[in-house]
Amino acid sequence: MRPSLRYQRLRDLDVGKAYAHLIKRIVYYPSRHRAHHPPQQRARRCGKRGRNYNNWKCCQLLQGNRFAKFNTAEDDMRGDQSLGQDSPSDEKFRRMIRIFFDVTLRDALEGIEGELERARAWRRALFNAGLAGLDYPVEFGGQALDSGKIAIWFEESNGRIPSEEELFGIGVGMALPVIRDYGSDILKSRFLRPGLAGDEIWCQLYSEPGAGSDLASLATKAIRDGDEWGVTGQKVWTSGAQISQMAILLARTDPHVPKHRGITMFVLPMEQPGVAVRPLRQMTGAAEFNEVFLDEARIPSDWVIGDVNDGWRMAVALLAHERRQTGVASMRNLGRERLWGRVPIPVQQLIELARSKRRTDDPIVRQELSQLWINERIVGYLRGRGDTDPSIGKLWRTRQGQAAAEFAARMAFPASPAWAAADEDAVFFAFQVLNCRGMSLGGGSDEIQKNTIGERLLGLPREPAVDRNVPFSQLTSVRREGS
Ligand SMILES: Cc1cc2nc3c(=O)[nH]c(=O)nc-3n(C[C@H](O)[C@H](O)[C@H](O)COP(=O)(O)OP(=O)(O)OC[C@H]3O[C@@H](n4cnc5c(N)ncnc54)[C@H](O)[C@@H]3O)c2cc1C
Repeated sequence: MRPSLRYQRLRDLDVGKAYAHLIKRIVYYPSRHRAHHPPQQRARRCGKRGRNYNNWKCCQLLQGNRFAKFNTAEDDMRGDQSLGQDSPSDEKFRRMIRIFFDVTLRDALEGIEGELERARAWRRALFNAGLAGLDYPVEFGGQALDSGKIAIWFEESNGRIPSEEELFGIGVGMALPVIRDYGSDILKSRFLRPGLAGDEIWCQLYSEPGAGSDLASLATKAIRDGDEWGVTGQKVWTSGAQISQMAILLARTDPHVPKHRGITMFVLPMEQPGVAVRPLRQMTGAAEFNEVFLDEARIPSDWVIGDVNDGWRMAVALLAHERRQTGVASMRNLGRERLWGRVPIPVQQLIELARSKRRTDDPIVRQELSQLWINERIVGYLRGRGDTDPSIGKLWRTRQGQAAAEFAARMAFPASPAWAAADEDAVFFAFQVLNCRGMSLGGGSDEIQKNTIGERLLGLPREPAVDRNVPFSQLTSVRREGS
């Protein structure tokens, strides 16, 4: 049987054949139902839960449902709980999480104003409730829980984590797991507990003016000086540097070996005289990221993660966490809450926007919303699996973010991109339209994700790299001579 048109279109999104079967399950089978059964009958046959749940959803779409009964992905995740058969200890854990969100967290946040203060209060409450660092060792402030309990946490916390958690994305989501997996006991004791408890905010000093996609070309240098390292150079696009106490830093420690081999990963204290942070204003008007100038900035000699000159291994491990973090993991709250961060506009909000503009009878609009909703579900599945390559999730999240913003732009600004400053809805959607472009860069560009998928998942030949075995010092001198 020929695949349905919708399946073909999704397949054309070209995110890697490995996930075509997932897409097929969601979209292809309903077309078989469509061929043989009228819509009402199809809905009854598919049932609302269990294996045919997606079919039922697609049938809702095909019946011309006015999106009134549509669950968000958030509702769906919660709904799945009822299918689970908890052991007594799982049940207890589930109850503990519910009490945390229903009572403890509400009390902890009451009366606290300001994003930073609320962010810290949220993390502190989470830590005190024994719900931070679920897969971290107990001696470093974690809970060392098994994967079953962690899955329960994902189900129960889905859609309930305050948006302020984004401030800990680099620390909790990227730096701490690398310290946990590769750091010395000194680093683990010093950083894991305060990071999990929200006492320290982290930023990531990776990109430089001459090293973005080609990160291994970074030129910031670290030189050992007695009991310390002295670091000099410039970083750029550093999200959150202005509020961070700690940074994960990549610096060159040996320029006489090929570029990937002479890099070391450090923890850099941000609040010191050798570190200057200058904000960069984005086209959204916000200044989330910065240039960071390092002039003989000091690092204690043992704040090296892994071994000296072996930083590239850790750098790649951190990038995988980053792609997970900036990819599907970022799409936790898919309900009505307006999120101003780097997250696609939830489809529920697009449906409400289309309704407010009286556009939900337009078949094109309905088709676009259906497509966006299907994509959002796919992101939900990718998040739920947890074992997919992070580049796939990141690509999906970016495409969803840009498609959602483009749809919002057409709905909210049909005549021209102009709006009244007092119109809160328009301000929100305008922000999203401008902000969504950065999604395809932060955490590595789309092209780099595709290269990664091609090389690592599909086994395609590696990109040619003529400089792979040339000492870094020779590369830079060639560059200097050429410039
Ligand atoms: C919102 C946001 C937040 C960020 N936060 C941080 C942060 O906190 N810390 C940090 O260190 N950095 C951060 N960055 C920087 C980000 O990691 C880089 O922008 C990204 O890696 C791309 O590097 P670049 O900007 O130098 O572009 P370049 O590497 O110069 O790329 C330019 C273009 O060339 C393409 N290209 C480059 N190489 C290849 C190739 N081999 N094959 C195919 N195409 C290629 C790219 O896809 C891109 O389209 C952030 C960026 C954004 C947008």
